[in-house]
Amino acid sequence: MRLILILNAGSSSVKCALMQIDEQGTAHDLARGSIDGLGQNAEFSMRFMDGHPAIKEAMPAGSQISHKEALSLILNTVDRLYGLSSLVAAGHRIVHGGPDFVKPVRLNRTNVDELRKLIPLAPLHQPHNLAAVDSLFELLPNLPQVGCFDTAFHATMPAIARNFALPKALTAKGIRRYGFHGISYNYIAEAFAARDPERAKGRVIVAHLGNGASLCGMINGQSVVNTMGFSALDGLMMGTRAGTIDPAVIFYLMREENMSAEAVEKMLYSQSGLLGVSGLSNDMRTLRTAAPDNSDAKMALAMFTYRVIREIGSVAAAMNGVDALVFTAGIGENDSELRADVIKGIGHLGFTLKTDANEQRDFQISASTHPAAFVMPTNEESLIARSTITLL
Ligand code: ADP
Repeated sequence: MRLILILNAGSSSVKCALMQIDEQGTAHDLARGSIDGLGQNAEFSMRFMDGHPAIKEAMPAGSQISHKEALSLILNTVDRLYGLSSLVAAGHRIVHGGPDFVKPVRLNRTNVDELRKLIPLAPLHQPHNLAAVDSLFELLPNLPQVGCFDTAFHATMPAIARNFALPKALTAKGIRRYGFHGISYNYIAEAFAARDPERAKGRVIVAHLGNGASLCGMINGQSVVNTMGFSALDGLMMGTRAGTIDPAVIFYLMREENMSAEAVEKMLYSQSGLLGVSGLSNDMRTLRTAAPDNSDAKMALAMFTYRVIREIGSVAAAMNGVDALVFTAGIGENDSELRADVIKGIGHLGFTLKTDANEQRDFQISASTHPAAFVMPTNEESLIARSTITLL
C-alpha cells in the first residue's frame, strides 16, 4: 500500500487528506480529517472511505496544540491503521510562491528558507503552511515533501493584468498582483477540459466561492486574470474579508480612528465581509436562514451577489467576452439561490438560467448554450496529490 498525506495547515486548523496510490499511479481518497481549534479546545476528526470507524476526539479544554503535535496525531493514526512505512510522500498547500515558485517543487531546507522570505506577503497563511513542512522535516526527515502554490497557476497572467499602476521600481520589487486559489483553478481547468474540451479552449470564468472567494478568467485553460491581487484580500467580498475597498479608507482609519496597521489588517481579514456586514455570521447557510427576518443578513447576501456580478463583468471585459462560467467551492457548489441570482444578473452577457438544472445541481445549469454556465466540485487535495506523484 502506498499513501500520500496532503496537508493544508492554517493558523487555527490543520486539514489533511490521505490518498492511496494505485498501480497506475492514480491517487484515490482514503481519508479526510482536520484538527480544528489549535489555539484552544482543539478537536481531531477524521473520516475514512475504507470502512474504518470515524474519529472524533476533543483535546482537553483550553489545551494549545502546536502544528507539530497536530501532525503527530495524524501520523499516529496513519501508523495505527496502515503502518507508517506505507506513507511515501507528503504534499502541502502553500499559499505564496512569489515570483519564482511557479510550479510544484520538492521541498528542502534551502527552498523552505526562500519561501519563508515570502511571509510578509501572506502573513496570515504562509507561516502556518511552512510550520507543517518544518514539523514533518523533524518528525519524518526522510519523507519526500512537495509544495504546491496557490499563486503558481496565475504565472501566465500577462503584465497588463499583473502590474499595478505604481512607480515601476515598486513593480520590480514584486509589488504586483499574484492571484490566489490557483490550486483549485488548476484542478477545475483540467476537470472542465476533460468534460468539455472544445469550450475549455475558449474564454472561461471560474468562480471559486467559498470562505475565500475569487474569480479567474482563463483562455485555453491558462489564467489571464484573477480578482485577487497582491494578497488574498482583494476582489470579491468574502466570508470575513472585505475584498476591494478604496485604499484611502485605510489611511483614514489609521489617522482619524488611531487604528494600528495590525488592527486594520485584522479588521479587513477577519471582521469584514459577510460577517462584518451582517453582524451575524460568515456562513452562507446561517445568513440564508436568517435573511427573511433580518435586514442585515439580507444586505450581506445582496452585497455578496452584487460583487460577484460586477466582477464577472470586469473579467469578461478583460477577455473581450466569455464562453463559459463555472461555479465551484462551498458556496458555488451548494447555493443554488446565489447561482440563480448571479446568472440573472449577467443576462446582458447572454446567460439564461435553467431553473430545474440549477436546483438539481446538474453539470450545465444555463438554458443558454453559448455562453453556458456550469457547476463543478473542486478538489484541491486531488490536484496536490497528482502534482506530488508527478514530481516524485
Ligand atoms: P473554504 O474557503 O474554507 O475552503 P468552503 O469552500 O468550504 O470554504 O466554503 C465555505 C462556504 O460554503 C460557507 O460560507 C458555507 O456556508 C458555504 N456552504 C456550504 N454548504 C452550503 C450550502 N448547502 N448552501 C449554501 N452555502 C453553503
